[in-house]
Amino acid sequence: MTFSELNLLKNIQQSLIEEGYENPTPIQEQAIPIILEGTDLVGCAQTGTGKTAAFAIPIINTLHRIVGSSNKKKYIRTLVVTPTRELAIQIDESFNTYGKYTNIRSMVIFGGVSQVPQVDQLKKGIDILIATPGRLLDLHKQGFIDLDHLHFLVLDEADQMLDMGFINDVKKIIKLTPDNRQTLLFSATMPIAIRELADSFLTKPKYVSVTPISSTAENVKQKVYFVGKEDKRKLLYHIIRNDKINNALVFTRTKHGADNVVKALKKNGVSAEAIHGDKSQNARQRVLEGFKNNEISILVATDIAARGIDIESLPYVVNFDLPNIPETYVHRIGRTGRAGNSGMAISFCAKDEKPYLQDIEKLIRLKVKIEEDHPYPYSLVEPDPEAKPDLRNKNKAKNPNARKSEVSKKNKKRWY
Ligand code: AMP
Repeated sequence: MTFSELNLLKNIQQSLIEEGYENPTPIQEQAIPIILEGTDLVGCAQTGTGKTAAFAIPIINTLHRIVGSSNKKKYIRTLVVTPTRELAIQIDESFNTYGKYTNIRSMVIFGGVSQVPQVDQLKKGIDILIATPGRLLDLHKQGFIDLDHLHFLVLDEADQMLDMGFINDVKKIIKLTPDNRQTLLFSATMPIAIRELADSFLTKPKYVSVTPISSTAENVKQKVYFVGKEDKRKLLYHIIRNDKINNALVFTRTKHGADNVVKALKKNGVSAEAIHGDKSQNARQRVLEGFKNNEISILVATDIAARGIDIESLPYVVNFDLPNIPETYVHRIGRTGRAGNSGMAISFCAKDEKPYLQDIEKLIRLKVKIEEDHPYPYSLVEPDPEAKPDLRNKNKAKNPNARKSEVSKKNKKRWY
């Protein structure tokens, strides 16, 4: 299928040609006709599938037909609610890109920054508003947002909004919009709370789904290193140096952990920066730009901060800490191996993370290859509590690794 077969306006097709999009992605092929015919939609798709364009293109197409090229007062006719600032900014960029030959205008609002420029821009009038839930409700309460003329409501990354505790805000927002709106809900996973949301607030929606969350792209190679918690930073540096990695996204569980990894890498001369919620919006944007321009080699991120980061052809993803939610692993490694490029997903697994690895392997129905050839192996052997220390060689007894390897020969029971 080609974009011209989707009956899109010529000026939208022109911007897609300039973006180098030759064919619609599967989610676009399925979703665009449904949205254009005016039907509500539930799309099960994760970042990287082209889902932003799947809703942005038909929305611009429809709004252009409604508003035409008139310069009359603009009303908010589309509201996109999304969990993070990064995602909001990227969605706004997509609307700008695809709509650059139309007079449809979008803007983005999010918290953590002054509301004044946002309010000024709102007063001038816009067609499409992209917002995070908190700031949206806040500015609506202050009377700066009029949703009475809304045509489209898009709930993007609905499962992430649920995880981040925004579900009640989302319900409040839906109630502020007109009943005759067209509602589009996108989510990477479909937990019950999201299905209930769709059942209560969407009208006879059509469902489309691409790449079920349990599948990992075939062109992503995956391997796991068993490593002691305290050795993870050394192992990361070792791999970066040995494999000459100059472009990788590293995931840590905590903000503090992300800062520590960056500190250790910088100490060894690796250009690395962290991106997480404690950083100001400007700092996060600067780091992201630096990473995209290859000025920063290693980007260390927590899941929430990394959500929605759109980087094409990322060769490496490193799970410095394994996530306790297996779907998060699939999200993370979905950032490599995109658009036909091959990718490598490396995971570090400390002893207490083994149950997480088991859950991940169950979800992806695959045993992740164990990489044993590295200098910081964690003993795969459960030390025998009955075993008496071998004191014949005092040097060996002092060296815990030497002790471990002795035990490993005696006791073949793996610790997981
Ligand atoms: P998303 O899933 O919306 O995060 O999109 C992932 C990436 O795919 C973005 O960098 C888009 O620019 C790109 N993309 C979206 N649609 C297409 C397409 N039809 N052809 C090529 N690239 C696309």
